[in-house]
Amino acid sequence: MRPDILNPLFANAAKLPGIGPKLEKALGKLFGRGDELNPEPAKIIDLLFHVPSGMIDRRNRPTIDHLPETGIVTVEIEVGRHRAPPAHNKRIPYRVDCFDDTGSLSLVFFHAYGDYLQKALPTGETRFVSGRIEWFNGAPQIVHPDHILNEADFARMPPIEPVYPMTAGISPKTLGKGIRSALEHLPALSEWDEPNWLERHAWPAFSDALTRLHLPTSVSDLAADSPARKRLAYDELLANQLALALVRRQMRRASGRVLSGDGLLMEKIETDLPFSLTASQRVAVGEIVADMALPERMLRLLQGDVGSGKTAVAVLALARAVEAGAQGALMVPTDILARQHGETVAQFAKAAGITVDVLTGRDKGKTRQDVLDRLRTGQTGILIGTHALFQHGVEFNNLGLVIIDEQHRFGVHQRLALQAKAGGATDLLVMTATPIPRTLSLTLYGDMEVSRLTEKPAGRQAIDTRVLPIARLAQVVDGLARAMQGGARIYWVCPLVEDSDLIDLTSAEDRFAGLNTRYRGQVGLIHGRMKGPAKDAVMQQFKDGEISILVSTTVIEVGVDVPEASIIVIEHAERFGLAQLHQLRGRVGRGAAKSSCLLLYQEPLGETAKARLSTMRETEDGFVIAEEDLRLRGSGELLGTRQSGVPAFKLADLAEDGELLAAARDDVELVLRSDPQLQNTRGDSLKLLLYLFERDEAVRLLSAG
Ligand code: ADP
Ligand code: MG
Repeated sequence: MRPDILNPLFANAAKLPGIGPKLEKALGKLFGRGDELNPEPAKIIDLLFHVPSGMIDRRNRPTIDHLPETGIVTVEIEVGRHRAPPAHNKRIPYRVDCFDDTGSLSLVFFHAYGDYLQKALPTGETRFVSGRIEWFNGAPQIVHPDHILNEADFARMPPIEPVYPMTAGISPKTLGKGIRSALEHLPALSEWDEPNWLERHAWPAFSDALTRLHLPTSVSDLAADSPARKRLAYDELLANQLALALVRRQMRRASGRVLSGDGLLMEKIETDLPFSLTASQRVAVGEIVADMALPERMLRLLQGDVGSGKTAVAVLALARAVEAGAQGALMVPTDILARQHGETVAQFAKAAGITVDVLTGRDKGKTRQDVLDRLRTGQTGILIGTHALFQHGVEFNNLGLVIIDEQHRFGVHQRLALQAKAGGATDLLVMTATPIPRTLSLTLYGDMEVSRLTEKPAGRQAIDTRVLPIARLAQVVDGLARAMQGGARIYWVCPLVEDSDLIDLTSAEDRFAGLNTRYRGQVGLIHGRMKGPAKDAVMQQFKDGEISILVSTTVIEVGVDVPEASIIVIEHAERFGLAQLHQLRGRVGRGAAKSSCLLLYQEPLGETAKARLSTMRETEDGFVIAEEDLRLRGSGELLGTRQSGVPAFKLADLAEDGELLAAARDDVELVLRSDPQLQNTRGDSLKLLLYLFERDEAVRLLSAG
């Protein structure tokens, strides 16, 4: 149980002045509380851990001709003409032309309310505007400024003020106020860091550091290397490393079991495969089989870029478990994927006579009961499903191996919980397509063993990637005709619009309607809100070639495998993160045919978006893309973080704080050596730290001894 002293920090954010139930929800979504479909209210601590993305330094205001290339700026401007978009076109932004004596600057708003903007920015008046500067065709612009103030309000602002990453529906003013009052809820906590270490770095106490972050007194307080920021980053990494170390220790302690066999089932499957394994698939299978044969518990990560053939490796490992007289389970993040894998695996396993079952949250009543019965009696050799696999009531006869596919879709918490639940002596294999740079893999897995699929199956051709403005949409649609005559199958991915899956849906539905007028009867639509069987049916039609174009929201992002698909069109590609674009593109280029990927973007294109799209055009190497992703994204961009599989660090920025990670790891090792149960004074404070960063599961492992 979380110590009482921390409770004020975990109270709901609506406790704070200015934050009502509605805003609390919006904030909860922003901070990743709950899951994407059922967000939970934000907590006070979420606000405190919300790191400013920059600051307004009102003492220094450049004229327009002296604006920097990047960063947050405060400019004094005169408001010029308002240019509202045509009423029927929500995609064109609302622009307000502004100027000073030295040049002009546009303010850009998407989905804007004209009335509000007329009031906030009356033509002819002076305003002080802050926000992130962007350059569009050589002209400066600010998209959704953080602040728009008149002279009187501006004079009342403190000279230095942090600026927070913006999000739809939350005004920076309200957010700032909420955060400042959240600071009043900070209790005095006992120190968990080594006094010598703190002194050496001149780091402030935890609560002082947070106060510095939100109430800076100088520009340097907010610099990425300020003592306050470093201290907070270190604490977060320390909590992460400590939690990992405890989980690891627990896993090691639970001794494994020997899973081995005569190789007959594996051999049958392998001979029956429609292809021969690549060299690295062969090596990976060998490593896994060797691990399984050891009396220690296997803890292995299989990393292979999209399309590298992880499923085949998984099937062979699962067959090994069955050979050993045990059962295997494969857990995947989505329903669609569970069905798809169910089919593929069943096909592969048929040769060996292994019974494969599928279980997801969708299965109810008799179907579910039948699966559960087969599972309990040991008839089922391999069970495939979503996290429903580890729900109450699911009882294996003899579970020997658990494989988690596309693990980056599962949060760290889910994974910790799962590892605890899988319990017993089961071997664990985690598969991921997200190529994880070295620094990150440490924070995610500690010292898990890693197998890598380094090559793609033979015969794959490079994917031709093109970046086009959305203005060329009609041309793209026309171009599909020829491809379809040649039998091509096409994914058409519609964008993520803000945070609303409702709007997502509208745009996908619109696009479906449009394409279906042109290519009647050859187009299907699939999205997250459809009922399971309806989804399956559309997916099946696409697989069988009954339809040639599949319009979808991002539900196809992960793992879907239709080798005949050779074209993917991604609309509003500028709104996707790099890792996500890479995943999406990986849906094509899976067969022998030449594939292409069309990235359609909406202007204006910011610098980061431009860099992302050109990275996509230049490389298909998932590793290069992941490193570039890390470089382009500050830790501030919370929303992107969850989608990309990078652990959601709030205070630490791995691009900046990599060296602290190693230090935290060493620190943890020393602590656990001298105080394995965290019982002495520092140990007690470290438990507090674990709760503070919501590593409650890890603390539970301590008492479990
Ligand atoms: P991922 O690693 O992204 O999960 P999959 O396991 O879905 O990739 O494999 C992608 C495609 O490549 C599938 O159609 C699969 O049948 C095929 N495949 C896997 N291994 C090989 C191989 N050694 N040779 C040829 N094709 C293969
Ligand atoms: Mg896969």
